[in-house]
Amino acid sequence: MISHPRYSPEAISELCQAYPLLDQLVALRPVSWFNPERLPAEQALTAVGLTADDVQDASQRLDRFAAYFSVAFPETATSQGRLESPIQPIARMQQALNEQFQTNLTGELWLKMDNLLPISGSIKARGGIYEVLQHAEKLALKAGLLQRTDDYAQLHSEPFRTFFSQYRIAVGSTGNLGLSIGMIGAKLGFQTSVHMSADARAWKKALLRENGVTVVEYNSDYSVAVAAGRAQAADDPYCHFVDDENSVQLFLGYAVAGERLKAQLEQAGIMIDRANPLFVYLPCGVGGGPGGVAFGLKLAFGDAVHCIFAEPTHSPCMLLGVYTGLHDQISVQDLGIDNLTTADGLAVGRPSGFVGRLMSPMLDGFYTLSDEEMLSWLGLLNAQEGIQLEPSALAGMPGPWRLIEDEGYLQRLGLTPERLGRAHHLVWATGGGMVPPAEMAKYLAQAAALDCEE
Ligand SMILES: *Cc1c(COP(=O)(O)O)cnc(C)c1O
Repeated sequence: MISHPRYSPEAISELCQAYPLLDQLVALRPVSWFNPERLPAEQALTAVGLTADDVQDASQRLDRFAAYFSVAFPETATSQGRLESPIQPIARMQQALNEQFQTNLTGELWLKMDNLLPISGSIKARGGIYEVLQHAEKLALKAGLLQRTDDYAQLHSEPFRTFFSQYRIAVGSTGNLGLSIGMIGAKLGFQTSVHMSADARAWKKALLRENGVTVVEYNSDYSVAVAAGRAQAADDPYCHFVDDENSVQLFLGYAVAGERLKAQLEQAGIMIDRANPLFVYLPCGVGGGPGGVAFGLKLAFGDAVHCIFAEPTHSPCMLLGVYTGLHDQISVQDLGIDNLTTADGLAVGRPSGFVGRLMSPMLDGFYTLSDEEMLSWLGLLNAQEGIQLEPSALAGMPGPWRLIEDEGYLQRLGLTPERLGRAHHLVWATGGGMVPPAEMAKYLAQAAALDCEE
């Protein structure tokens, strides 16, 4: 069992004095914080211990598995078994937000549509699926059933499913990670169990059960579900636990997005360099997804890319951890923040210490926003662009406007009006592709109700 420090009321009040922003976090007010300790990419990357070669290795593994996906998940056949999502400009949304914020964002607003990723309709299809593939390949290679040069389509067969059925995979999740791991784990033949926190949606649990996954439900939050999964795996040599809080494999799976985005932008005729910067806004839960993606982006674009993490006002765990330097040694609950949010993937009270320590020197900043704000952008994006996302996936949307109102940050990084005028702002839409129509209608109704209140 991993134990965490407990804080006395005195210790918390001292902390709040030393870190003035905490009072606003506790009051659940939206805050922005731009990282004064951001380092040049080269310097930050050398400190990481993971390299471009590690990401390359992950990328090649995904390539080997493309043949498997084409047959096991026929919806991926049109993309030759590659799991990737499109990017697209959202000029009407940019215009609408300019009006809402009464501030003119120059440059171009784009959307990275991970809601369209196959199999789980969220960013978790990157890291979660990758880790299961890595594990399956390792087992099959070790057993002498597979060679790296083989056609991996053969993994979609009874002999392989029988082989994998001796093994178990466990994961703790608020929903989307469980969905990704569950779908791929069960498809390969693993006995797969997903430990779900109380906030996980009923339809996600039902979908997993339909696909032969064991779903274990908890009445508490994400950390408890993860701890339960970890405990199940601890004394079972046949069980692999996907550790969302600490996994290097998950992280590398996410990081492959960097080079792929670079190729996509090139294809769209978009050049990124110091004079033409790229800003990327990533919704953050425990940190693995946005952290891994940001790592890949830094490898691909160096100092030309600026990564900003977005969190709900009720679950600002990564901001709290990085800002205080306490990382996973503190949770939002320690400050009396409830970690209750409608933003599924983001309801995490304690950040990944691994990701926070590794990534904080590479990140430009963090901000928080309310559930109402996410819902309101959910409605606006649907109205302006006809694109439907889940609430978490909208967390990045106001990021560009938060950034351009922070003079200190812009000056510190030399972000002149000229450079900003040539910038691309990419909002990472992390999920929503699998939300059932009836659930989406509820989100849209909630968004519409908010508009009426105004
Ligand atoms: C999981 C998730 C995130 C954040 O990823 P973390 O690795 O938990 O930080 C963001 N958006 C959605 C929709 C997610 O499911």
